[in-house]
Amino acid sequence: MTDTNRFFPKIKTSAFWQHANHYFDRVYQTMKLDELWRPVLASPRRVVSVSCPIRMDDGKIQVFTGYRVQHNNALGPFKGGLRYDMSVNLEEVMALAMLQTWKNALVGLPFGGAKGGVVCDPKTLSPGEKERLTRRYISQIMPVLGPDQDIPAPDVGTDAQVMAWVLDTYSMMVGHQELGAVTGKPVPLRGSVGREEATGRGVMCVLRKFLATQNKALGDVKVAVQGFGNVGFHTARLLEERGATVIAISERNGGIYCSTGIDTDAAGQYYRENGTLDDCPGCEALTNEEVLVCECDVLIPAAMENTIDEDIAPHIQAHTVVEAANGPVTPRADEILRENGVTVLPDILSNAGGVTVSYFEWVQGLDNYFWDLKRVQDELQRVMDRAFDAVNTQADEADCDYRTAAYTLAIRRVAEASSLRGLFP
Ligand code: GLU
Repeated sequence: MTDTNRFFPKIKTSAFWQHANHYFDRVYQTMKLDELWRPVLASPRRVVSVSCPIRMDDGKIQVFTGYRVQHNNALGPFKGGLRYDMSVNLEEVMALAMLQTWKNALVGLPFGGAKGGVVCDPKTLSPGEKERLTRRYISQIMPVLGPDQDIPAPDVGTDAQVMAWVLDTYSMMVGHQELGAVTGKPVPLRGSVGREEATGRGVMCVLRKFLATQNKALGDVKVAVQGFGNVGFHTARLLEERGATVIAISERNGGIYCSTGIDTDAAGQYYRENGTLDDCPGCEALTNEEVLVCECDVLIPAAMENTIDEDIAPHIQAHTVVEAANGPVTPRADEILRENGVTVLPDILSNAGGVTVSYFEWVQGLDNYFWDLKRVQDELQRVMDRAFDAVNTQADEADCDYRTAAYTLAIRRVAEASSLRGLFP
């Protein structure tokens, strides 16, 4: 494994950063590329760490830690989400930034990869505290942001409102409105229509394409979705809309099950109103673990990294796992699933719909010309279908799994761009 930690000597190696490097290294070794570029591609270009002192509603000052990691910009400006969660740490953000580089390259976006994170529990912050934290964090990483430099977007724990504060803070600091500085904005602030559901729609497109290779359709499958945030909800809703039977859904505190299919809109409304799926009408209760191992055809982890590890992987009954979250399957679990004949559709392909519509939003903001929903959905489908076809062809030709195929295509593009550009100075 590349020793990228020598660049960050004080950082303890976390499992997730190791996993991201493992997936990269495993494929890089098979690609017969110049070894000299390996550490260049594996290391983040820039790591920014800030402490953000915030006046809390009770008058006290609390200091929050934030990061922005810019992994690689050989293909264009850095681009990637901003996460608010208590589990955020530098190495997690480094891993997510690296995944974002491969994802953006795989679907052919003119972006490099980045990720941001603030260590906080967004559920316990008041709207005022969250706004002050967002503005302070953005102002502190301001020198490395910009529509041509690095463009944030929503991720776990952040939403369109947070992106509105990002837009306003950035625009106030440069003295003019800069629509291209952030994506995932609210639609009245010139966010793109269709951005909110985009990751879920991309997951649906990829699963539909994969099932077609097996002569199956969405109407033929029973699906379990782990995670019921933005991505899990829209994935479940769009799959149900196209005839899939969503038999199980879980959120942080537990899950629900209905063998004839959950009404995902009703479950979504119940979850928004009650903050839990407990006692959701018409459903049985399941634990989080029971949702992962329930008898279904397709399992969709749509929450956090490392959800499917070597302990749970042997018990998974689904024939297909679609990674809607970033990094939900550990490398060891990935091997076990492969040995058991389970197909894994990798995150850098399956969940690329969000950043793809972010790209559309960035283009619209720079052009000041705004698309309708049909155009966004049609173009998203075109991008996702093309990416799936490329990965499927590569997997066939190289006789390999989908993750290896997706990484091969993505790494090849970034490596080619890097070597064409050469080193500066
Ligand atoms: N956070 C999302 C992801 O993991 C979206 C990033 C973006 O839109 O820039 O892909």
